Amino acid sequence: MTVIHESGADVLRRRDPELAGVLLGELTRQSTTLQLNAAENFASPAVLAALGSPLANKYAEGYPGARYHGGCEIVDVAERIAVDRARSLFGAAHANVQPHSGSSAVLAAYAALLRPGDTVLALDLARGGHLTHGSPANFSGRWYTFHGYGVDPETGLVDHAQVRALALAHRPRAIVCGSISSPRHPEYALFRETADEVGAYLIVDAAHPAGLIAGGAAPSPVPYADVVCATTHKVLRGPRGGLLLCGPELAERVDRAVFPFTQGGAQMHTIAAKAVAFGEAAAPSFAAYAHQVVANGRVLAAGLAAEGMTVVTGGTDTHLIAADPAPLGVDGRTARGRLAAAGMILDCCPLPRGNGRGLRLGTAAVTTQGMGEEEMARIAGLLVSAVRGRGDGARTRDEVRDLATAFPPYPA
Ligand SMILES: *Cc1c(COP(=O)(O)O)cnc(C)c1O
Repeated sequence: MTVIHESGADVLRRRDPELAGVLLGELTRQSTTLQLNAAENFASPAVLAALGSPLANKYAEGYPGARYHGGCEIVDVAERIAVDRARSLFGAAHANVQPHSGSSAVLAAYAALLRPGDTVLALDLARGGHLTHGSPANFSGRWYTFHGYGVDPETGLVDHAQVRALALAHRPRAIVCGSISSPRHPEYALFRETADEVGAYLIVDAAHPAGLIAGGAAPSPVPYADVVCATTHKVLRGPRGGLLLCGPELAERVDRAVFPFTQGGAQMHTIAAKAVAFGEAAAPSFAAYAHQVVANGRVLAAGLAAEGMTVVTGGTDTHLIAADPAPLGVDGRTARGRLAAAGMILDCCPLPRGNGRGLRLGTAAVTTQGMGEEEMARIAGLLVSAVRGRGDGARTRDEVRDLATAFPPYPA
């Protein structure tokens, strides 16, 4: 059991110092800068242990009890546990835990419900749709006919009158709901109504809010969607991977769409790590975490607004904040560069109107580190001084480092 018990870093230091240096360098980077990327988090040591386990060696095409390979009795247990925990965590009749990523989950959802050439309605990429929502650079845009709905340029919220008008005009086979940059909960009931009106499937891409839903800090799309796609590594805090949820009538189609249609052998170490993460997410401490993530988001959003940034939708109900630094005289890309130089790592995102870029921030990782509202107010101040580029840049960088190192993601 040395592979499990000896820390990965120690093994590597002896066997491959070059790669050990990379791993330790990345750990240092993660723990001395602020991870404000809304899609990132710190998986627990238990999740990382499962990921670094000998389950990685096992080939297991198929599903528990029906594999194409021998010797799957033990890993079958891991997958059954993962499926049972996912079903109970999300209150879903069926779960598929095999998708290698969020994008693979979306690919399989489309494969289960659509045929090439089918018409699909999804959020415009220029307003926060994901690449898998019809980008011409992605399989989705190549194989399906996507039409994009937008958001209200004033409120930043999905314009449901437009969704309905587009649905009536194009008669899509599926409507996709989900965004990479919306700080608010989607109105699942309105999406369902429109989907029913035109006889379309409703696919909810809950890659971002899945962890908030698991923790009871966001409404669940499960009662409304035909298929829910999710990632396990964002707010949910598990290993990098995807997840599909659906009702009993689509279970077989969804399973076949994952394997054998779009994937080969399941990654059993990742599936075991997903099981660990689902177990963690079912604990009361995770519900407290999810609610703290949102409370932190509200304070951070209010802090940025108070310092003059335009906060999209005026705030947040989630871990995610989209803010336009233009009122500070800086565009989004320049701001992101200045923030990175100061040790605050985050992304750009589209804004409700125009082609300019905003800043996308998330509170999932810093909340895992144990930071609360007080620290969020401090971070808002640090963000704005770095974006303005005034004053002592080295001092801001030092303050960021002090704050990050006071909350180690992996305390010794
Ligand atoms: C993150 C995300 C995905 C894709 O997840 P990957 O694991 O990076 O493939 C898909 N859809 C949405 C809305 C996302 O935010």
